[in-house]
Amino acid sequence: MTSVRNDRPTWAGRIPRHKIAELYKKDALGICDEELIDEVGIGLLVRIEHIFRAKDANSGIASCPICRSEITHDFDPEFLLRCDSCNWELPWAEYQKSFKGKHLMASGMTAFLKEYVEKYRVARSPQEKMILIDTLIHRYHWELEGGLTGPGARDLIGGKPSEVIDFLNHLSYGTRSNPEILATRQEWLDKVRASRQKAASAVMERERKAEEKRQKAAEKARRNALKKKAREAGTAGQC
Ligand SMILES: [Zn+2]
Repeated sequence: MTSVRNDRPTWAGRIPRHKIAELYKKDALGICDEELIDEVGIGLLVRIEHIFRAKDANSGIASCPICRSEITHDFDPEFLLRCDSCNWELPWAEYQKSFKGKHLMASGMTAFLKEYVEKYRVARSPQEKMILIDTLIHRYHWELEGGLTGPGARDLIGGKPSEVIDFLNHLSYGTRSNPEILATRQEWLDKVRASRQKAASAVMERERKAEEKRQKAAEKARRNALKKKAREAGTAGQC
């Protein structure tokens, strides 16, 4: 009998930013580098597949890292995930640890990630693929619901939200860039502006409320002082 395997699942990392930068530099010059487009495009496909795999695991359906068959669990850290056909097993806590901190997040991006996977799989021309990559990395979390909470690319190409925004703002564009890509760029700039305005107005609203609170407290203190004064005057009058 073969010994039990305890392989930890491995997870696809985010796409290196320099690859994306190169992609746009070439596109702006009208150079079609099919190999690079596929490298980035397929890298995104794999990354998305792993995002969904982590999401499923966190909702109770893990998968065997060898044969991918589904294994349900009850979230007990000691629950032993087991695949009989591969003779593999690992406690749920260990499995979960393997994707912790890897930014495998779908929140608010699920529809866009699914759309990308569906369309990329059937896309034929490199131009079509480039547009799909471009559209995906310029999405915002919760964009469909009207909330622009953060750039979706932070889980796809990496970096802090502000770094990701700066990076995307500085991609190369030129007269040879595809019109659709130029249109997405304009939409992106509008989204960045709207999300910054939203953040700024949230700060202003917080400041307004804090000022209101300060004024109320000052008014209360003034009234109390007046009451005290009146009481003192009353007491003095009784003597
Ligand atoms: Zn298996």
